[in-house]
Amino acid sequence: MLGVAIIGAGICGLRCAEVLQDAGITVKIFDKGRGVGGRLATRRHAHWRFDHGAPSLHGDGDGWGDRISRYPRWHCGDNTTWHHLPTSGINQLAKDLAGQLHVQLNCQIDSIEHRGHGWHLIDQRAVTYGPFPTLIVTAPCPQTHALIKAVDSTLFEQLSTVRMSPAWAMMLVTGEPIIAAPELRPNHRLIRRISAESSKPGRALDTGEYGYVVEATDEWSRQHEEDSPAAVETSILSALQSIAKTSFNPLHCAVHRWRYAQTEQPLDQPYLFDPKLQLAAAGDWCFGEGAGGAYRSGEALAMALLGAE
Ligand SMILES: Cc1cc2nc3c(=O)[nH]c(=O)nc-3n(C[C@H](O)[C@H](O)[C@H](O)COP(=O)(O)OP(=O)(O)OC[C@H]3O[C@@H](n4cnc5c(N)ncnc54)[C@H](O)[C@@H]3O)c2cc1C
Repeated sequence: MLGVAIIGAGICGLRCAEVLQDAGITVKIFDKGRGVGGRLATRRHAHWRFDHGAPSLHGDGDGWGDRISRYPRWHCGDNTTWHHLPTSGINQLAKDLAGQLHVQLNCQIDSIEHRGHGWHLIDQRAVTYGPFPTLIVTAPCPQTHALIKAVDSTLFEQLSTVRMSPAWAMMLVTGEPIIAAPELRPNHRLIRRISAESSKPGRALDTGEYGYVVEATDEWSRQHEEDSPAAVETSILSALQSIAKTSFNPLHCAVHRWRYAQTEQPLDQPYLFDPKLQLAAAGDWCFGEGAGGAYRSGEALAMALLGAE
């Protein structure tokens, strides 16, 4: 294999690139974001940090369990599952993986073309990259679907079976504690999960400050997908007041909309590959098991391309 282009520097694309590069293949990754990690995201505001995508890393299985257990344990949930994360923020896992890889950031690939014997990638500034003999797309499924649409590939039909759900996430700092546990999953139509950021390892805040990420339910997020951030803030804060059963004073509050947060209907196979076009797709939507599933999907695809399966 001469060279591979990967669209997406989330955990799937990074793991795929790592395996290929370790086998001596030249890999170039393109990502539209300012940093690596995709939905393994950490937002900073003043001295506060929020993991406003996945709150922690969990699960076992092959290399994934070993990889995440290098990071400190976060004692949340029911103690049957171990949760880990780097103290500086969940996106540190992606930064650690990307260290030796060639990643081009701030580069949104708007279209792909198969010309002659290779793939050409065209970005938002109309700059063309390539040709690359092999192309791997690891964007969330609807975005992968949109990119592949213009290409006459067998992948297109298979991608249409996958469904992903949106999620609004609130990053909040209060002057009073809202929940007693590190994590709460209330039975509430609007709020799916509250994660106490300041209970994470190495993240204790100044006295009188309590940091949270509040995730809205799939259903509510879908119904309010196009609402303004201000309207979403008001709704989530009001729901939180009823869960907290005590009034609290927000010191900082911001919301983020994830259009494709988690997988509702997975593909149920590790990756897709069109050998004729040397075009592949992978991501968390293949297994539907969050970050661990994304990692395994990227790894399985790389192994298949290396002929090691
Ligand atoms: C609110 C929330 C809560 C979650 N909770 C959990 C949880 O509790 N447990 C769990 O395991 N998982 C959880 N997840 C899911 C987990 O974050 C994802 O499964 C995992 O990070 C997906 O990795 P990925 O590499 O497949 O995709 P992504 O992380 O989405 O990476 C895809 C990358 O592709 C890039 N990209 C897309 N289109 C283009 C383009 N055209 N050009 C260039 N770049 C492009 C994006 O910028 C992104 O960096 C949660 C996610 C969210 C949002």
